Amino acid sequence: MARAPFRRKSGAREANQLVRLAEGLASSKSRAEDVYWERELEAAVMLQLENNDEDAINRALDKAHDAPDATFDALADMVESLTESIMLDSEKGQQRVTLFCAPILVWGRNQIPAKKIPKQQLQDIAVQLSAHVFSSKAKIALADFMFAPDQLPHSYSQSRELLQNLGAAIRERTHLTIDPKTVEDAPDVVCDMRMIVGAFQVTEGEPFYAWQETTTPVEEARQNTLGIWRSQGGNAIKPLLVGFPHELTLPRSFFSACRDADMASRAYSIGASVQYLEAVTHVTPDKLTAVIGGCWGNGLEEYRIGFAIGEDDDVVHGCVWPLVSDEGDDTPVVEEIEALLRAANVGTIILLEEQLPLEFCDDCGAPHFPNREGEMLHAHLPEDAETGAVHLH
Ligand SMILES: [Zn+2]
Repeated sequence: MARAPFRRKSGAREANQLVRLAEGLASSKSRAEDVYWERELEAAVMLQLENNDEDAINRALDKAHDAPDATFDALADMVESLTESIMLDSEKGQQRVTLFCAPILVWGRNQIPAKKIPKQQLQDIAVQLSAHVFSSKAKIALADFMFAPDQLPHSYSQSRELLQNLGAAIRERTHLTIDPKTVEDAPDVVCDMRMIVGAFQVTEGEPFYAWQETTTPVEEARQNTLGIWRSQGGNAIKPLLVGFPHELTLPRSFFSACRDADMASRAYSIGASVQYLEAVTHVTPDKLTAVIGGCWGNGLEEYRIGFAIGEDDDVVHGCVWPLVSDEGDDTPVVEEIEALLRAANVGTIILLEEQLPLEFCDDCGAPHFPNREGEMLHAHLPEDAETGAVHLH
């Protein structure tokens, strides 16, 4: 294949142009003007994606942070949607192929599996997704691997490549084989996510989700889909996670499914932490103390919840509640955390008023968590805890 003799390095000019178009779209006040900016922005982003020029895109995303409100979202939405959904020509008309993700929130006393999905189970999962989550018009293919978030593609071009491979699998009426050797090791953490990844294909203009095909109000239909997926899809997924409590969130297009799962995992990890502590220490939740503290870097960045047994000063476990874009110290996040701790029957809940540092362990990088005195400490399970984990320091 002929190669261009050289490719000009992505300059600031491309990035500036992307930001300008995104700002135009974000500040447009009519559907007619939207259509103009959208078309221009789409063409400009597509050019960079097709050239595999992530530098220009990332540079533009950085710049868009400093641009007027909603510019960043307009650009990020366009980049994500062109990354996760492509159009292919066929004799049956244009086919839209879209990457999706079915997330699983999970915790465990031992290392949570991230592994190859056996053929029969992969087929069972695909059948449940086709029957309950996607429309009767959609064809799907899955990757035969249950991924940890860190094992998913790290860049837009890698995501597009995965989508293209899944699109080929759909055309060949098969699933996509992933070579486990090409997948990084998953981190060993108590509470995490696992992802089933696939693609769906519909003729452009046809419905692709089950909730687009009913007359039920949309949110109600979506919740019905989630309920059925949790029971039917849950049965198909259960054999992959024997001994690991888990909960399914709504499968949908890749980036929004991952983001929704990130949000849901904050709440999930609180209940999971309490159950984990009871499982490994046999201390019932009513004997636990949870200390909530806000950690500040450039402003309030996250809450950290330190768990202690009774009135002890040692932190035995902790969980992090990262804040997303529009959350700050004036949003009711603390109330939500307190309600979740109460729902998990935690005996004592302490809210610290002071601003805590974003401290991490120098040796292992683990976050430190507050005790009732507001000291930031490394979490260590009691020595008699029944877990396979080894304490290195
Ligand atoms: Zn450490």
